[in-house]
Amino acid sequence: MSSDREGSESDSTSAHSVTMPSRQSPLYENYSVYSPRGALMFRCSRKKVEWYLNRKLAISLNESRTVIQLTFEPKGNGRVGEGEEYYLEDRENICVGCGGQVRLTSHHIVPFQYRKFMPLEIKSHASHDIVLLCNRCHDAYESKALSVKKEYAKKYDIPLEGRGYIPHPQHRRLHAAAKALLLKDNKIPAWRLKELESQIREFFGVDGSIDDEVLKQALGLPLLSRSDDFEEHGEVVVRKMSENELEEFIRMWRKHFVEHVKPQSLSAMWRVEDPVRNRASATVTLVSTMT
Ligand SMILES: [Zn+2]
Repeated sequence: MSSDREGSESDSTSAHSVTMPSRQSPLYENYSVYSPRGALMFRCSRKKVEWYLNRKLAISLNESRTVIQLTFEPKGNGRVGEGEEYYLEDRENICVGCGGQVRLTSHHIVPFQYRKFMPLEIKSHASHDIVLLCNRCHDAYESKALSVKKEYAKKYDIPLEGRGYIPHPQHRRLHAAAKALLLKDNKIPAWRLKELESQIREFFGVDGSIDDEVLKQALGLPLLSRSDDFEEHGEVVVRKMSENELEEFIRMWRKHFVEHVKPQSLSAMWRVEDPVRNRASATVTLVSTMT
């Protein structure tokens, strides 16, 4: 299963888990952006703050440039609406599950393999559903998440690994030949070894002796590839859902996460019922153009 960690969501939908490195930089930088009227509008990264400062769209309110004030009247009010307190909080870079501080990764509560196929107004509202988990909490939760994904695979008749692969039987034969030759098994009769060698030679266009590098290359040949009609699991599931079903789906993942991780350090302001879509009125236009 493609792991739901930032940076680890390869396009692969294979059902095998992938061990990924932990985050090298903190997820939360906790920079603060104030409106010209002096109200805290939202929290963000250093990069965003620098973006405003460099364009003279904001002034710095402290020496370390961690708090800025916009110099223009933004279209929206930022995160000041009722129920949006979560977005204004200072956030610690710790695992929301156990409070641990090491080997942290960004976890997508709504698995990325689904979210990436969702409409922009949902995707652009992702920060609520990306939290920090340590590797241990993450791995423990992934097996629970996998059961849910399998249910959806059945319900929408689309396997987790997707549908529409083209098999490469020739590559399979070359794999077998390379394996046998690499083993240097002296039980294989000489005539058979010659036969295996000629299969490899023919495919790779090698004249002389075959070295281990060529054999390893043979082992790297794909046994399956995606056809033009290939469909990803997440793509089909999201496509088949109505708008309401999609909202329910997102809330289901939030509930499932809370029930199974039993987070010790998740903000009390984080809500299963938090809006799923980006509400244009509550956002600052300039911010959305940068993300
Ligand atoms: Zn943890």
